[in-house]
Amino acid sequence: MKKTVRSRRKVYGQLLKHARRQPHRECCGILAGQDGLITQAFPAKNVAADPIRNYEIAPSEIVRLMGELRKRRLEFLGIYHSHPNWLDTNEPSPKDIALAHHSESIYFIVTPRPYATTPIRAFSIRNGRVVELDIQVLP
Ligand SMILES: [Zn+2]
Repeated sequence: MKKTVRSRRKVYGQLLKHARRQPHRECCGILAGQDGLITQAFPAKNVAADPIRNYEIAPSEIVRLMGELRKRRLEFLGIYHSHPNWLDTNEPSPKDIALAHHSESIYFIVTPRPYATTPIRAFSIRNGRVVELDIQVLP
């Protein structure tokens, strides 16, 4: 049985909007919430040298976002990024798997493609092992 991650519908909308605003490059940010329920997305700047193929959040921005979460009493739950519209899939790339250091967090991958059947997919990535999670969207 697939594990389930719960997310507010609003977050779903935020991620799609963020990815579609820049469909030709990767966008990224963090996911936060309470009791495992993702209630908010915080967009971050993609500082990767090649933002068309990679994403990277600057350490200083992570520190700033963590402070923001503490202030709002939210838990850090995961990281999201998009794969540009010329890529067929929103599955973790070999690089995504290699760079997944936060083993407890959930990775959301978004595609800006307008007719994608699963525009947002969730994964847990631990020691190079990828498991897809079901996303339960709550109002
Ligand atoms: Zn990726």
